[in-house]
Amino acid sequence: MDHFTYKNRILHCDDVPVPALAEKYGTPLYVYSKKTLQHHLKQLQSAFAAVNPLVCYSIKTNGNLHITKLMVEGGAGCDVTSAGELYRALKAGCPADKIVFAGAGKTDAEIRMAFDNGVFLFNVESEGELDAIADIARGMNRVAQVALRVNPDLPPKTHAKTDTSVKGVKFGLDIDTVLEFAQKVVKNPHVKVVGLHMHLGSPILSTEPYRLGIAKGLMLIDKLRDQGHKINVWNMGGGFGINYKKNEALPATAFAEVIVPGIQKSGCKLVLEPGRFIVGNAGLLVSRVIYTKDSGGKHFVIQDAAMNDLIRPTLYDSFHRVWPVVGSPPEDFQIENPGTIKCDVVGPVCESGDFLAKDRYLPPVGRGELLATFSAGAYGMAMASNYNGRPRAAEVLVDGGEHHLIRRRETNEDLIRPEIEC
Ligand SMILES: *Cc1c(COP(=O)(O)O)cnc(C)c1O
Repeated sequence: MDHFTYKNRILHCDDVPVPALAEKYGTPLYVYSKKTLQHHLKQLQSAFAAVNPLVCYSIKTNGNLHITKLMVEGGAGCDVTSAGELYRALKAGCPADKIVFAGAGKTDAEIRMAFDNGVFLFNVESEGELDAIADIARGMNRVAQVALRVNPDLPPKTHAKTDTSVKGVKFGLDIDTVLEFAQKVVKNPHVKVVGLHMHLGSPILSTEPYRLGIAKGLMLIDKLRDQGHKINVWNMGGGFGINYKKNEALPATAFAEVIVPGIQKSGCKLVLEPGRFIVGNAGLLVSRVIYTKDSGGKHFVIQDAAMNDLIRPTLYDSFHRVWPVVGSPPEDFQIENPGTIKCDVVGPVCESGDFLAKDRYLPPVGRGELLATFSAGAYGMAMASNYNGRPRAAEVLVDGGEHHLIRRRETNEDLIRPEIEC
């Protein structure tokens, strides 16, 4: 469920007509629904309530302070992947003891910052990293709590660029050798292995990978305990898919049915690191058509959002629903609906890979009309860049009939600010 609906042929976010937002804040514009964000967090918290999970919002998905703060106020912790995200989580008011630190390449400075602030848990992904954490912990006279991130070697399940639990990706410790490794650290006084971590990939549209992951995890936890490790945390990561096309995603309860019994059996505290599930369908990208043209047998809609605003289509061949802000959306965005023409929806960036949608059937649109690109809340603004000298978009948060700017549009001055004056 989300709060983006067409009322009298005009797209609204809650009670606010999207054209009014475009008028006030300009385009391209990210629009988020506060109620949807809260609703999605609640859905996860209630689906997994039987094991009282620590839900750590994955900041990398959309780290805007206002959105992160909303998650923290809703009872969530944070999953961070860098010092920058740790800084952001703390700024948003997240208690350090609800922060888990992920990432395959934590630097010494980042590890130190995590100790200085007292984060809850390091997700460790290599032997070298564990050595570095132990060294720094010794130097600071501390004991690190770590979860071993294991790559459980499951069958492929998502796009090659977002699958993190198949053999041969950089993530996690190899499941075939993790026990040998764990054996070596049993007696290390500066690291306590207290948990197991698995993030299987994203977006996942079936419960099967979690079922397989849970089965492998239960066996591993037994063996780690046999070695003398006191395992009491099981971090299942994120990865829950959302509806980008139609109704392809599963409800949180479906994942809970598979995960909760395993967690209960393990006696561990469950940690989740959802990102996309919470914010993906809580945001849309609004853009304005600049030109249309026909060329090479194709019809192009050139609008003012580009790959620098939303890179998912370019990077992952992702499908985002695109439709005029004024109109009537179809049941199915993937077919040739009546009154539509086949278009490529592209941006102004000088790359053939700059597009939001390809070979898509849309009603004819002209200069000045507004388009909405749906399901853009996750990995949209978070991956935005200034490529082609494009200031990043503004972000606005809607709550009922109110709307607040939560990130101003960048200016041309912002683009050169960090450069040394010449
Ligand atoms: C990206 C990531 C997440 C969040 O994934 P979603 O699919 O957005 O839920 C969680 N944990 C780790 C370790 C990640 O890398």
